[in-house]
Amino acid sequence: MATIALTNIGTLVTGDIQQPLSEGTAIVVQDGIIAKIGQADILNDYNLDKIIDAAGMTVTPGLIDSHVHPVIGDYTPRQKTQDYLDGALHGGVTTFISAGEPHFPGRPKDPAGTKALAILVHKSFKNLRSSGLKVHGGAVILEKGLVEADFAEMAKEGVWLVGEVGLGSVKKPEDAAPMVQWAKKYGMKVAMHTGGTSIPGSSTVTAEDVIAVQPTVVSHVNGGPTAIAPAEIETLIDTTELPLEIVQCGNPKIAALTIRKLTEKDALKRVIFGNDAPSGTGIIPLGILRTISFIASMTDVPAEKVIAMATGNTARVFGLETGLIAEGKEADFVIMDAPMGSVGSNALEALTAGDLPAVVMVMVDGTIKVTKSRNTPPSGRNYSVK
Ligand SMILES: [Zn+2]
Repeated sequence: MATIALTNIGTLVTGDIQQPLSEGTAIVVQDGIIAKIGQADILNDYNLDKIIDAAGMTVTPGLIDSHVHPVIGDYTPRQKTQDYLDGALHGGVTTFISAGEPHFPGRPKDPAGTKALAILVHKSFKNLRSSGLKVHGGAVILEKGLVEADFAEMAKEGVWLVGEVGLGSVKKPEDAAPMVQWAKKYGMKVAMHTGGTSIPGSSTVTAEDVIAVQPTVVSHVNGGPTAIAPAEIETLIDTTELPLEIVQCGNPKIAALTIRKLTEKDALKRVIFGNDAPSGTGIIPLGILRTISFIASMTDVPAEKVIAMATGNTARVFGLETGLIAEGKEADFVIMDAPMGSVGSNALEALTAGDLPAVVMVMVDGTIKVTKSRNTPPSGRNYSVK
């Protein structure tokens, strides 16, 4: 299969929050996996099919959206919008993690139906790979009547996500906690709606509820879209080790507050970023980039560490083999740059200034999927292939 290289990388953002920048200026990819990172001389050891010259621009891991509510395919009936996932690919997102499929028309709410929906959506996205995207769909919504054997069956069929606790009929922490235990026993990762009620039919969830249920992730700690109180944020930060998700479709003040509190505790590895489309504030194709730009510009956290919150941190929480530019990981990359007219001279400076970077190229599994974003502003530079 193909062996390709990226060279002339100006800034290499690793996605690892402990070591967010690499000295490397070249990457070799074999069969969609990162084989080697180093200087230009590493190219001599390989028989290359293609060399991509990044023209001194910034290379980051493909971004991960930890919170999407898909249905089937690249269509959401909630906003009557097609190609919204492809639109996000043009904003640098290569991987999406479902937080449940509550917008499925006529969603069944009995145990057999909710189980069947999770299995169907999981398997359909596995087959689809629209635009190369990695959509982890099929996050079961907890409904009354599910028993342990249901979780065993779903896990056997490949389902590994539980959609936000609070979306379905299981609302009380004492009802949710045993189901979450069963889900975890079969290796599933569990999201939990946190904060005010989002859409009619869902419920308000407090920090105390979250602590009682012990999900894998505190979904939208800054609200989806209504946030919990600052004192509850402090409780979650101080008394748990749970990963905390910040979403674009939430409360920006609480997002910044959460980051400042976690910075004080040297615990930024707990932060992941999601979008929460298409609920609440609708479809935002550049939502993950906007969240990175907001946090990098409105807090003191360096932009390369903020990018790690949307890449390596999320991959670690969900056990994905993407999100890091490291040998052996999946070759999902974004070439970014300062947009034309920005006060920044590269992607990181532009983000720190509060601008959205130009997405110049997106690669998934070693294959170029976007050659120039249709959604971001353009860069004055371009990559070349030979
Ligand atoms: Zn939610």
